[in-house]
Amino acid sequence: MIQWSNTLPQPGEFAGIRLLRVPPKQSYQGLVTSTLLQGCPTHYAERRTQPCTGETCRHCLAGLVPRFLVYLSICSTRTRAHAVLELTALAAQPVNDYQTRHGSIRGALLTAERAGNRPNSPVRVTICPDDSDHRLLPPEVDLRRFFALLWHLDEEPANADIDSPPGPSIRNTIHNDPPTQAPHHTNNNGNGRILP
Ligand SMILES: [Zn+2]
Repeated sequence: MIQWSNTLPQPGEFAGIRLLRVPPKQSYQGLVTSTLLQGCPTHYAERRTQPCTGETCRHCLAGLVPRFLVYLSICSTRTRAHAVLELTALAAQPVNDYQTRHGSIRGALLTAERAGNRPNSPVRVTICPDDSDHRLLPPEVDLRRFFALLWHLDEEPANADIDSPPGPSIRNTIHNDPPTQAPHHTNNNGNGRILP
């Protein structure tokens, strides 16, 4: 039966929130909306980033060494677009230091620059306090839930207190990006790369 409606469906959970990596030879600046960084060991396997699941991880058992990645939600200072930024543990060290000093990273001004021309060239991060009105910042992205949907961790609830049914898939709005692959397309708005 056709299900006509006079209203549009609700946008998908996390609609429009992209997973960003700093493109080669570009920089990205934004105000952090996360309170704390989130990170976990991951593997790049089967052409995508996947979480390492620990002792029973099939990628570890296959001999792949896990790589710790850090994520935070952030609002571009130029476009105001809300996104999730991925950093290596090395690049995220200043973020970790800032978090240790201030107890929170929310509202901090973060600049990430990839000077090299390869997708996996090192990223240099600077982070400092910002005195703009942080009441205007959007709520932080629930990163554990964001990645539960991205990584399809159906068997592993991201938050024990979530009792609502899982939202629609976000695969159409965010995609994993091969960190070592040659760049396909780079947008020129300084807001990071639209992932393939
Ligand atoms: Zn593993």
